[in-house]
Amino acid sequence: LADRLQSTMKKITGKGKVSEQDVKDMTREVRLALLEADVNFKVVKDLVKRIKERAVGQEVMESLTPGQQVIKVVREELTELMGGEQSTVAVADNPPTVIMMVGLQGAGKTTTGGKLANYLRKKHNRSPLLAAADVYRPAAVDQLETVGEQLDIPVFSKGTNADPVAIAREAVEQAKAEHNDYVIIDTAGRLHVDEDLMAELEQIKAAVTPDETFLVVDSMTGQDAVNVAESFNDQLAVSGVVLTKLDGDTRGGAALSIRAVTDTPIKFAGMGEKLDQLEAFQPEGMASRILGMGDVLSLIEKAETNVNEKQAKELEEKMRTASFTFDDFLEQMDQVKKMGPLDDLMNMIPGANKMKGLKNAQIDESQLVYIEAIIQSMTKDERQDPSIMNAGRKKRIAKGSGTSVSQVNRLLKQFNEMKKMMKQMTGTQKGKKGKGMNL
Ligand code: GDP
Ligand code: MG
Repeated sequence: LADRLQSTMKKITGKGKVSEQDVKDMTREVRLALLEADVNFKVVKDLVKRIKERAVGQEVMESLTPGQQVIKVVREELTELMGGEQSTVAVADNPPTVIMMVGLQGAGKTTTGGKLANYLRKKHNRSPLLAAADVYRPAAVDQLETVGEQLDIPVFSKGTNADPVAIAREAVEQAKAEHNDYVIIDTAGRLHVDEDLMAELEQIKAAVTPDETFLVVDSMTGQDAVNVAESFNDQLAVSGVVLTKLDGDTRGGAALSIRAVTDTPIKFAGMGEKLDQLEAFQPEGMASRILGMGDVLSLIEKAETNVNEKQAKELEEKMRTASFTFDDFLEQMDQVKKMGPLDDLMNMIPGANKMKGLKNAQIDESQLVYIEAIIQSMTKDERQDPSIMNAGRKKRIAKGSGTSVSQVNRLLKQFNEMKKMMKQMTGTQKGKKGKGMNL
């Protein structure tokens, strides 16, 4: 989807410090990317405003890794926009619980009805009844019956000559008699929203007062899905949305807009044609998908879990006062190793670009073992204050670590350069408290 958004994000990821202009550029790109992804323009406007407010604030600009922080803010806002945990289904005090499926033709109502019945039985040990209230397409009743057979779930139907309202009402009665605790009513759709359809759905709704009215939306329909959702919601007061066909190569924009425009939670996601391919909707996963930057995001997550904030604060203080020791170095290496490939991580370290320029300070991953061994062979005093190092000490360390004196020298040199660099880097940030994931 958002190549554009991705490249903007890449640009600011690893940036040492952002200006207000950077934030402006970035939010403009976010805006365009979201519009391209079929997100409704009103939704985009509000979203970008919130992102900007947060990005210009302390949270991002005073962080040591502003690029990462911005991405985090964007993702959080997207997630928020799609609602938190929402995949609950009503349970009626007086069974059966009635769920009505509505939506345009081809959206996936019939399939999703079957999937939902299967889901309720499997996950919640319920015994649902499906009701065939789409009497307009000759094959519609057959289709639901086939679904019922496949799942071994009963289907209430009266063929294609019956009144849909009567079908719904009688299905509920049968469920009571047969102790089915859920009734899922499959209804008719049209290619476009029309008054007759809405009137009929309203009548069904009035007759059986469903506990849930699920709007089934084809996620491939993009911007149009929002208008459809809006009209269905206006007339039928939808209680939840099911987004289908998310297994396809769809732009995720619809998901964002529907939630925001209708203020209705997206409860489930259809992930394929098979009847077990229904999942609880995951706002966070969807946000990542829309951003299309799973890699970057998982990196942030790694950093968040591995670098605990207190340690990071302490380290920052040490960097500032240049009291960074070999013990700290060792600890940092441990954290770095937990996070994976060094190349990726270099981009997360503030000032990494500068570091890359410094050939001598570059850390070769294969050298990590030696570095670790060398530090571990140092005494406590040596680790705290490398300036006491003399020829004798170096020889002893080289021997203890299975390395050579020149390797020990090289590490000492790298360490001093690093320290110098830290001092420079933190010098420009004087007085500011980093809130982000400092490394
Ligand atoms: P209805 O007209 O709203 O009842 O829609 P149907 O349930 O008949 O579905 C229309 C088509 O979409 C069928 O071919 C389904 O197999 C397909 N479909 C429904 N949900 C999904 C989904 O989540 N993923 C995929 N790939 N296809 C789906
Ligand atoms: Mg159907």
